[in-house]
Amino acid sequence: MPVPLLDVNAQNHPLAPKLREAFERVLASGQFIMGPDVLAFEQECAAMLDVKHAISCSSGTDALVMALMALGLGPGDEVILPTFTFFATAGSVARIGATPVFVDVCPICFNIDAEKADAKITPRTKAIMPVHLFGQSADMDAIETLAQKHQLWIIEDCAQAIGARYKGKACGTIGHYGAYSFFPSKNLGGFGDGGLLVTNDDTLAEKARMMRNHGMQPKYFHSVVGGNFRMDTLQAALLRVKLEEYDQYTVGRQRNAAYYTEKLSALPGVVVSDPAHCQCAERQREWLAENQAKLVLPIPYAHNDHIWNQYTIRVIGEGRRDALKQHLQDRGIGCEVYYPLTMDQQACFAHLPETSRNNCEIAHRLATEVLSIPIYAELTKEQLDEVIDVLGTWLSVCSQP
Ligand SMILES: *Cc1c(COP(=O)(O)O)cnc(C)c1O
Repeated sequence: MPVPLLDVNAQNHPLAPKLREAFERVLASGQFIMGPDVLAFEQECAAMLDVKHAISCSSGTDALVMALMALGLGPGDEVILPTFTFFATAGSVARIGATPVFVDVCPICFNIDAEKADAKITPRTKAIMPVHLFGQSADMDAIETLAQKHQLWIIEDCAQAIGARYKGKACGTIGHYGAYSFFPSKNLGGFGDGGLLVTNDDTLAEKARMMRNHGMQPKYFHSVVGGNFRMDTLQAALLRVKLEEYDQYTVGRQRNAAYYTEKLSALPGVVVSDPAHCQCAERQREWLAENQAKLVLPIPYAHNDHIWNQYTIRVIGEGRRDALKQHLQDRGIGCEVYYPLTMDQQACFAHLPETSRNNCEIAHRLATEVLSIPIYAELTKEQLDEVIDVLGTWLSVCSQP
């Protein structure tokens, strides 16, 4: 039985009648730009996240760009971000002319290491962009402390974490800005590109709204240069249909993650990531060896509500990850490497100063070990069992002498 990494139709097709109704409503209105559904969608998102302002836009990348532009950042400014992330985090910084500074990550949650970030701050550092990778929050207390100490703006990249929580607070509402994506593979997947920027600060909200529409305020008067970062009315209307169902998508992903962890951790050679043994890279290597670990399962820190955009396992041993990926693919199980290269390893950033790119060893190791397996809400028990079976066969083959 083939199990795809993601099946957007399984989620969208049952909603077809409601989606058609939304489409018909927008078609009939003729208000394709900033129609009433845009405002309604923003209000509904703000309510879900418990934040004062929600500003819809054209993509998650554009939400990040809009935030950086609204803060007036540009050439000469440095922005701290994790080296292990999707390219858009780093790309948005480079595109506004600022310098991205890459920081190593925690091997448990895959998110930015605040202590290592501290070591990379200079007088030119203006902002920090934590990414809540795979659906789990970064260490926001440590990041806030750091930001206060050095007077930094915090822009949370929540593209993979809409609805995730840190100590009860929605990711994206802790820093100055939070940026979300509705790319179809994100937890709230849209029908094309779309994004959202949130903030609790009235002035920052006003600036972002201006940036979204050419820096225009009032009409045809431009005191700053913005862009066209608007979300289509049609996209907002369709997303509203999915927003109503959103809680149950998260419940489904959490249920699947718990099932994998329960079943897979019972197999020989499989360990669950353990914060007690993983803070120091050296100690972690010993711990993995003591346990003869072949696979390491992800586990959220206790204070995090993880929404599992990805269920990412670590495959220990040189060449093993690529072998397992092939094994899964040969048996029809979808899987993907998020991400095979860290930002400091990208060709387009090779010209950056050494200090922007050094000390990222944990991330480099993770890039050779990580593998994400199917976790979407609509997976059936049979499909989950198939993934577990195929992983089980691989483990027994690779334990043979
Ligand atoms: C998807 C993603 C983005 C960009 O979102 P788009 O809507 O595709 O532009 C930014 N950051 C991270 C971490 C992402 O996963």
